[in-house]
Amino acid sequence: MIEKMKTYCNSLTEYSRYKTREVFVGEVPLGGNNPVRIQSMTITDTMDTKATVEQTIRMVDAGCEYVRITAPSMNEAKNLENIKYELRKRGYPVPLIADIHFTPNAAEVAARIVEKVRVNPGNYADKKKFESIDYSDESYNIELERIREKFTPLVKICKEYGTAIRIGANHGSLSDRIMSRYGDTPFGMVESALEFVRICEDLNFYEIVLSMKSSNPQVMVQAYRLLIQKMEDEEMNYPLHLGVTEAGGGEDGRIKSAVGIGTLLEDGIGDTIRVSLTEDPEFEVPVAISLADRYKNRDNHEPIKPIDEIPIDPFNYKSRTSVAVSGIGGSNLPNVIADFSLRKINAHKDLKDIGYIYDEITDKWNMEDAAADIIYLGKNEIKFDSPSGLKIIFDYDFWLELNEKKESFPLLTTEQYLSEKELSSKLNFLLIDLNSLTENLIKKLKSEDKIVLVAKTKNTHGMAEQRRLFFELVDNDIVNPVIVKREYENISSDQFRIYSSTDFGALLIDGFGDGVWVGNNDFSDNNTNNNKHIKRFVNTRESAQKTINRALFGILQAARVRISKTEYIACPSCGRTLFDLQETTEMIRKRTEHLKNLKIAVMGCIVNGPGEMADADYGYVGSGVDKITLYKEKEIVKRNVPASEAVDELIELIKSDGNWVERNKN
Ligand code: SF4
Repeated sequence: MIEKMKTYCNSLTEYSRYKTREVFVGEVPLGGNNPVRIQSMTITDTMDTKATVEQTIRMVDAGCEYVRITAPSMNEAKNLENIKYELRKRGYPVPLIADIHFTPNAAEVAARIVEKVRVNPGNYADKKKFESIDYSDESYNIELERIREKFTPLVKICKEYGTAIRIGANHGSLSDRIMSRYGDTPFGMVESALEFVRICEDLNFYEIVLSMKSSNPQVMVQAYRLLIQKMEDEEMNYPLHLGVTEAGGGEDGRIKSAVGIGTLLEDGIGDTIRVSLTEDPEFEVPVAISLADRYKNRDNHEPIKPIDEIPIDPFNYKSRTSVAVSGIGGSNLPNVIADFSLRKINAHKDLKDIGYIYDEITDKWNMEDAAADIIYLGKNEIKFDSPSGLKIIFDYDFWLELNEKKESFPLLTTEQYLSEKELSSKLNFLLIDLNSLTENLIKKLKSEDKIVLVAKTKNTHGMAEQRRLFFELVDNDIVNPVIVKREYENISSDQFRIYSSTDFGALLIDGFGDGVWVGNNDFSDNNTNNNKHIKRFVNTRESAQKTINRALFGILQAARVRISKTEYIACPSCGRTLFDLQETTEMIRKRTEHLKNLKIAVMGCIVNGPGEMADADYGYVGSGVDKITLYKEKEIVKRNVPASEAVDELIELIKSDGNWVERNKN
């Protein structure tokens, strides 16, 4: 097991960048000792030179180091020449990348013009018709030879012109051939890319970058880990481009991207990143920079006890076994804890920020889907009857003095626990960290079944320290539920969203965590308000509790461990998009956001959309000017519906399937 672990990063306890070979993209190299490069993609029509140049300039001014532009056909590929000329004339030497799907002839033209060409092995020479094909080894090898013939001319041109290639596998657009042999798996994604890499290497071409994107952060993380392992097996070390596809926009898009990309960056993996949001690309850049900058001084972190053997399988998701204690752990959904230890609860309305709405007329509480499960009050009291079922945590000494302990439970330090006289007979919370997990404590925990652990950390490499604690618990067969607690100081709410998504997301993706808790915070939002590239999509005057509560539910959803709202899989749009994707996604969201168990995809074009919309329940896909094709899963249900009627038609479709519920008026 130890060998497997070592092949996907340098260390799980000591931060260091996983070193890949240096590849030049124009004058800006990546991999090797270079910093993590930031990139994004234009969403203009590539034939509109002026708009594409101006958007590229805005992206570069925001901090983009490479700019990708779609080239769906020969015409767009040829127009890259004009775009490049205009950019150079205006003093912008930024390396350009042509994005290719289905059109080798466009790739061969673009490779003579731009610094890098991105090909998708799922559709460069293969087709996707959702067919299952039986291949013998012989017929499979014949197909590989066909791919070699189609791909070789591009490699030769890239070699001649000094152009790099990104071989970018997408979980949603694996070819029928790969799906038939390897299934819809991270392994299939890896093999799909490596088939193309082997062709490059046979032609002595090594200027290669690889990516393994998925709209599901769990699949994406596993695919990159597996790719590194397979590359090491075949003595390859190509730089890695990280991204979560079709992440959507706004807060959810940022959270989903940070869960996937951040998890890998924590282990030193990744040479360039693109955050794909359904927004103008210049708004993606600050998110990507914030993700990458967090690791600039990470190698100075406090030491973490090294590990000899990893007790989990990092390539397959399995949640850690825990016993249920009063609705926490076991098969219960991860709990969300709201921290009111520094902000007093004076009135019913104070609980609105965490999802509890009080109706004075009926004297009843209504609960939102994203309502916190537990509140922590420290030494504060609540002066009215709290919603029934809402558990309250108090500090141990304060709890001891309470007259009425019904739904109240104590939080103990390890010292209090080891010397305690009185505990709750139902539920107790124990604050621990890696260093406090002594033999004595392990022994005592094994004899208690009413203890929920609260894992804290002060380490700057905190995720790794908390993961190390989970390994220690697994190794010692400790099955108490664990709530992961983090505290953040002096950061903005934008940074909080990204950091917390990384810190909690990375643990949840490995199956760790029966709950999430962020210590009481206020955000320093005044520092970032003037940055014109940071998009404000939430009210910055909302309380920290509200920001934290919403982010925590978003993280649980992105890690796919607790679904509390409709999931939108929206492509970031590009030059192929045939309608205003941002506006349409917003319109669909407004009408469907209460359908909590549905995944709805909004995709800009019929060429890539159906393949990329992954496991969506319904798809809204642009199929012509003002024309939308509606899908139920992978099946077309209505073709070429006029755009003005398409949202109503989508809702009718959901209703006719019996998947519609009326919105809760509260
Ligand atoms: S699905 Fe969206 S981002 Fe992908 S090619 Fe089509 S329009 Fe462009």
